[in-house]
Amino acid sequence: MNIADKLTDEQYKENFKEITPPFTRNAAINEANRCLFCYDSPCTKACPTHIDIPTFIKKIATENLIGSAKTIFSSNWAALTCAKACPVEILCEGSCVYVEKGEKAIEIGRLQRYAIDNYFELGMPKLFTPKKENGKSVGIIGSGPAGLACGAELALLGYNVQIYESKETPGGLDTWGIAPYKTIQADSLKEVDLVKSFGVKIKIGVKVGDNISIDELLKKHDSIFIGVGLGESGKLRIPGENLKGVVGALEFIEKVKKEKYKAVDVGKHVAIIGAGNTAIDAATEAKRLGAEKVMIIYRRTAEEMPANSFEYRLAKNDGIIFHFLTSPVEFIGKNNVESIKCVKMELGEEDESGRRKPVPVKNSEFEIPVDMVIYALGQEANSNFLETIPDLEIKNGRVIVNEETYQTDNPKVFAGGDCINGGKEVVNAAYDGKQAAHGIDKYVNGIN
Ligand code: SF4
Repeated sequence: MNIADKLTDEQYKENFKEITPPFTRNAAINEANRCLFCYDSPCTKACPTHIDIPTFIKKIATENLIGSAKTIFSSNWAALTCAKACPVEILCEGSCVYVEKGEKAIEIGRLQRYAIDNYFELGMPKLFTPKKENGKSVGIIGSGPAGLACGAELALLGYNVQIYESKETPGGLDTWGIAPYKTIQADSLKEVDLVKSFGVKIKIGVKVGDNISIDELLKKHDSIFIGVGLGESGKLRIPGENLKGVVGALEFIEKVKKEKYKAVDVGKHVAIIGAGNTAIDAATEAKRLGAEKVMIIYRRTAEEMPANSFEYRLAKNDGIIFHFLTSPVEFIGKNNVESIKCVKMELGEEDESGRRKPVPVKNSEFEIPVDMVIYALGQEANSNFLETIPDLEIKNGRVIVNEETYQTDNPKVFAGGDCINGGKEVVNAAYDGKQAAHGIDKYVNGIN
């Protein structure tokens, strides 16, 4: 099984080119001038980091791009990743007043990218000056968007910040978990460089619990922030899932980011289990790497599907086949997976989440031939690690924090991002990290 080595470099480039190209100067200015600069801007309210959108757009209209970048970074340290990977149609752009009028929303994501691309192209001119060192230190576990945002904010407040990252390349899911036609690793690493420019130190290849104990960190630092995200891709726990060719979506997406594309194992007939945004990423990546037939298997209908409409359209355009109301019961094969035994489902009563529960239809079993299965059922919690941190309250794998300060039941420990919300957008993690930094600042200064 390896279809990807049949692709030529030209095909790869074409298949993985950016799905949303950058604005030219003229296009950006024209789009910025379409903005009504609403006083009580609904787009700002819809952004989890509450970027002052009309202000940054106005600055683009007047060609003050550095000022625009400063407005954006003041709210969001993951501004480039968010500009390219945020589900803008359900956040800022979905709330633009033009939508209500039945017209095209302002392309806020692309405008944000225009300002931030320019900032990095200029070599990151100095926009923020850290306060005088205050002699306090904070240890941050994880260098994803939550950890980086927390680190940036604390460094600017005068803290000595040390991030501990288990991988060899920092950035968390921004570096490893987003499809390359949305963002490339270099984008995420630019954000890492920006945070490092404030004096934040990042130790890579350090696994807390293995290379350094949590007790050591608690002794060493005045406070700890946990931004570890979630663990491995969740499994269905059905027979056959240890067969060769059955892999987790994040592990697959990480390989696409990490390896030369020809080295990524891709089957001819690939089934993705699950229908969230990560499932769509995995499906479209498999297809763009050369898989002939890519199917998404989901036990509910298109209406209940967690993937947003933009992602659904993307998958349809890529020719992904959807098997709705279908649930796998067994993976079949000798060494490699050869088929999936599925059962048809129908929607029954509503469950606790308010969604109608899928129930199997009697005698409806059938097989789908495949040579690769990718699990995209969300990630499992990092419970083993979290349970080693003293006095944390953990519910359903999530660390419980104070909603305003992000402080856990252990007063010295704060947390944010996917490990507290179970897996949301980059923009939510960036917001959490920033807010937690101010919670930590209050705690260290004896205010809470
Ligand atoms: Fe501009 Fe739309 Fe935001 Fe109004 S809602 S400020 S038009 S982007």
